[in-house]
Amino acid sequence: MKSISLLGATGSIGQQTLDIVKDHQEEFEIAALASGKNIEKTKEIIREFSPKLVSMQSEEDARALSKEFPGLEVTHGSQGLIDVATYSDSNVLLNAVLGSIGLESTLAAIRQKKAIAIANKETLVTAGHLVMAEAKKYGAPILPVDSEHSALWQSMNGENPKSAERLILTASGGSFRDKTREELEGVTVKQALNHPNWSMGAKITIDSATLMNKGLEVIEAAVLYGMSYDKIDVLIHRESIIHSMVEYHDSSVMAQLGTADMRTPIQYALSYPERLPRSTAERLDLAKIGQLHFENVDFNRFRCLDFAYEAGRMGGTILTAMNAANEAAVGSFLQEKITFLQIEDVIERVMQTHDNVQNPDLETILAVDKETRKIVEGMLK
Ligand code: NDP
Ligand code: MG
Repeated sequence: MKSISLLGATGSIGQQTLDIVKDHQEEFEIAALASGKNIEKTKEIIREFSPKLVSMQSEEDARALSKEFPGLEVTHGSQGLIDVATYSDSNVLLNAVLGSIGLESTLAAIRQKKAIAIANKETLVTAGHLVMAEAKKYGAPILPVDSEHSALWQSMNGENPKSAERLILTASGGSFRDKTREELEGVTVKQALNHPNWSMGAKITIDSATLMNKGLEVIEAAVLYGMSYDKIDVLIHRESIIHSMVEYHDSSVMAQLGTADMRTPIQYALSYPERLPRSTAERLDLAKIGQLHFENVDFNRFRCLDFAYEAGRMGGTILTAMNAANEAAVGSFLQEKITFLQIEDVIERVMQTHDNVQNPDLETILAVDKETRKIVEGMLK
């Protein structure tokens, strides 16, 4: 039995993780979980999954839970995320919280030698070097949940990593893949949230439309697989059937395919090294799909992807600054305070003026993250 600490239980990945737990009750249980503000959904989850420890973002919500569920251990805030991640009865952390706020709890769980199933890509972007170094030191496996990285992982199973020559990340292209730059001028939040293939949380859906999501994933791949940026390519593949590929030095290419359903990579991260059945999953019917399409990315139209490669190649705190600027800019776009194309402008301005520090420690990363959000706030006043 794997006992899970789940961060971001009320979110898109969190809910799909609970679907998997429900489907395999002999294999998985929820020992502890953390939500943000959605207390009603959290109450439903508590009734159904009987966790022993629950964290809410606010102290007030935590107190309300305590009243309604006597005997439930309750915690809150950023310490609450750490309490859940390090809960003594769990052996796996599934981190599906949104944003770099997931960093400290991930590091804390690694130090408790828990297996880390990571959906929270911002943590790997903002401080990948720290996460991987600690994971190595404590022997904590880092298991990707992101579909592309799960595909790379599955395409490398049993292979000598040294013979991998190139990682090819596929990208659907997001909501605006057929729009010209001029057409991107006036797009609305509602249009941006309308992803053609995947149903996901709001922030990652916007990141998909700007292609920053693919940029974050390029960095995530470099961090997870120690591959240099020249050897990581992005390929537009509008059907989202091939989830990513690895090219080997004998010219063979290994790929992982499937329908667009995040529950499959979530389950694989939880069940690894086993594969469990997924009776409810839609099966891939290639004859019905008929054709798969591929095209190169237009880096001029999707500038965020370029920013991510640039930050990745530079390394250091610029990764933290770029990620925090993106989180802040996307938040502002979702609140209709800036336009879609201004997301890029904000990130570019932050990166141009950033004083880069190589090999930053945790304290420096947290300070740059906080400072960058302040800079963006000032910029948008
Ligand atoms: P959602 O916005 O759907 O969910 C985010 C979760 O984080 C919610 O449970 C939310 O709580 C919680 N949360 C947000 N802020 C805080 C906070 N300050 N303290 C505690 N909890 C907080 O996001 P997704 O599920 O889409 O994405 C989660 C992560 O997974 C992201 O890093 C994303 O990039 C990654 N990912 C997502 C995929 C997807 O298909 N959705 C695919 C691949 C990766 P509440 O709602 O209660 O406020
Ligand atoms: Mg992905």
